[in-house]
Amino acid sequence: MLEGLSMFSLEGKTALVTGANTGLGQGICVAFAKAGAKVVGVARRSCEETAKLVSAVSDDFQEIIVDLSEANAVEQIMSALAEKNISVDILVNNAGIIKRCDAVDVTIEDWDAVINLNEKLVFFLSQAVAKKWVQNGAGGKIINIASMLSFQGGIRVPAYTASKSALCGLTKELANEWAKYNINVNAIAPGYMATNNTTALRSDEDRSSEILSRIPAGRWGTPEDIAGAAIFLASDAASYVHGFTLAVDGGWLAR
Ligand code: NAD
Repeated sequence: MLEGLSMFSLEGKTALVTGANTGLGQGICVAFAKAGAKVVGVARRSCEETAKLVSAVSDDFQEIIVDLSEANAVEQIMSALAEKNISVDILVNNAGIIKRCDAVDVTIEDWDAVINLNEKLVFFLSQAVAKKWVQNGAGGKIINIASMLSFQGGIRVPAYTASKSALCGLTKELANEWAKYNINVNAIAPGYMATNNTTALRSDEDRSSEILSRIPAGRWGTPEDIAGAAIFLASDAASYVHGFTLAVDGGWLAR
């Protein structure tokens, strides 16, 4: 590694990434492995594809299969980690869902599904992991995956906007409580990225060209585009960065 860049190395660290089987979570797993971390992917389905991509750079990928919508998802993850004797240094709360619907038609079931996964689980998984870091004095890094809708209102996605706006506040709140334990809580707000999350948007020609014309970089983002920000926030280089939500958006918010 080039002199001076070692502060960005994740060598000797273990990262837990939720929603590791696709999209941005998969990209973060590969990026972390390239930076030297051992990676544990949490997903409701097999992370076979992610494991294959990671295996090009490292042998250190494990998966924990959990449906994060289950009430005891956090307990399932923590006992799987204990069983495998894994202690985590980095947590990426990436798993998230979006339900597109006019505000007047949103059901309580859909509202709860989005808020429970995108917001409640993020808090309780962070709490479980941070509790260990506080007990053993090790410190650690938490990265929440926020959204442009942490800053903007969006349209036809009220529960998603509520959950992602909450993540921006939660990131600051947890940073205020946990910075003294050497726990860095930050977030990344991806712009419009080409993943499953935006399939519906990208296949709607009008919405797609409307969005594209507003992105200064002139293209949709990719999972590789958030790799640098994720490595930075997970690394020692970010040790004095607390409670910040970093946009990786091709300039969208600057517009
Ligand atoms: P994606 O749909 O490919 O990823 C979502 C991940 O969450 C998947 O791996 C999925 O399996 C997992 N997940 C969903 N429900 C789950 C459950 N019940 N149990 C376990 N895992 C579950 O899309 P993505 O774009 O990679 O989304 C990743 C994160 O990035 C999400 O939080 C999303 O809100 C956020 N985000 C995406 C964009 C974008 O433009 N793609 C923009 C801003 C924020």
